[in-house]
Amino acid sequence: FFVKDEQVKGVQVFIVGSDVRHISKVLRMRPGDCLTLIDEAGTEYEARITQIAPERITCEIVTETSVNREPPLEVILCQGLPKGDKLELIIQKGVELGVTRIIPVSCTRSVVQLTEEKAAKRRERWQRVALEAAKQCRRNKVPEVSPLTGFDEALQLIPDGVLAVIPWEDAVGTGLKKVLRSYNNRGQVWIFIGPEGGFTEAEIEKAKGKGVVPVTLGRRILRAETAGIAAITMVLYQLGD
Ligand code: SAM
Repeated sequence: FFVKDEQVKGVQVFIVGSDVRHISKVLRMRPGDCLTLIDEAGTEYEARITQIAPERITCEIVTETSVNREPPLEVILCQGLPKGDKLELIIQKGVELGVTRIIPVSCTRSVVQLTEEKAAKRRERWQRVALEAAKQCRRNKVPEVSPLTGFDEALQLIPDGVLAVIPWEDAVGTGLKKVLRSYNNRGQVWIFIGPEGGFTEAEIEKAKGKGVVPVTLGRRILRAETAGIAAITMVLYQLGD
């Protein structure tokens, strides 16, 4: 479970919010049981439950170790909004692999076009998926799932001087592998992946205009959900750990 600095007081940790119900009702843990807790600075605690109250669980720290499971660079995935619940899979696997932030992007060929209200509801769900995945793989930080963003707006978010790539089936000759080999800045890498129908020529041109490099992921066409997961893996294989 993730804890904030203010929840840790001396040898005690106080768990509040929805985790209280999860621990006491879903996991049915009792005083004496042990939990693994991670704070924002990457300190991991083995903590024993001493008291369970309706609003708060009190734990006593048994051991404390410093761990860093975050990659040495930030990987930002701008994912063209796919159909159904595919984005959930992409978020879950992306978080396990080490993605820093996922920006769902509304593209010209996104089949699903969400209203603002629906997009906000979905985002809550997507953020919960990220939280659960981060807990499961013991990340130090929970990656952010940003609000649904338009393609042009997503391009505007790219900071100057970072590597940004746009995997595109027609980018013959420029492999992501080759681009990554010649990049040795450990700052950020931005990846744009299209929805099921891919990007339009106009979107590729706009991206190029912003300095985003069209790259191929190989000779086979990957599904939208496979492409994002594969690209994150390639980036962190080459530049991360
Ligand atoms: N509709 C496209 C087609 O039939 O050629 C395929 C789009 S693909 C399912 C979805 C996204 O995955 C693409 O927009 C691209 O970003 C990425 N992608 C999939 N395979 C790729 C490859 N071999 N090279 C580069 N990008 C790829």
